[in-house]
Amino acid sequence: MKNLLKNVSFVILLMKMCLIFGQEIDVQKRIVIDVGHGGKDAGAIGINGIQEKDVVLSIANEILRLNDDLDKPLDIYLTRYSDTLISLSDRTKLTKALNADLFLSLHCNHSDNTDARGIEVYASRKHGKFSKPSVFIGYQIERALCKAVGYESRGVKFANFQVLSETIDYCPAVLIELGFLSNRDEASYISDNNIKPIALSILSSIQNQ
Ligand SMILES: [Zn+2]
Repeated sequence: MKNLLKNVSFVILLMKMCLIFGQEIDVQKRIVIDVGHGGKDAGAIGINGIQEKDVVLSIANEILRLNDDLDKPLDIYLTRYSDTLISLSDRTKLTKALNADLFLSLHCNHSDNTDARGIEVYASRKHGKFSKPSVFIGYQIERALCKAVGYESRGVKFANFQVLSETIDYCPAVLIELGFLSNRDEASYISDNNIKPIALSILSSIQNQ
């Protein structure tokens, strides 16, 4: 009888452990996708008239749609879900309040030189120090985008943009410039509704990080 009780408590302990492990496995990473600009702030205007604020919102919404189809979707929040302007500090406050595992800011580039092209990723460098996880995920996303979409790589650079410098002490944080709207090829690529491969590359990079 004593042995039976021992066995029963062992089985209960085992079940509890499975439950705890199961819960840990099921906890999905929480990602904040910062959708650049919005409302009266259109961001860059493309050579073909497309607006940065619309491009990044479509890509972010596509990431959400693709994420919903995953067996284990990530816990993704956007800083805006519609065409509204959110202050930079509200974007970073949301990231802290949600205790995010990753902050990803989406933008498109613009240059007076219409030949400028490619993907640029930014991470923050504070007091001469940079966050290795930020640079790592930045490289992953850039590499995935270049491979899937054929964009040129302009590398991972450092810049203390407000959204990065205010989030970097809490979680890995990167800002991606998804091609140049001032470049005819890249602007027309993105307006030809090729947002799905872009969204998919970003989602699979953050999923595998
Ligand atoms: Zn921008």
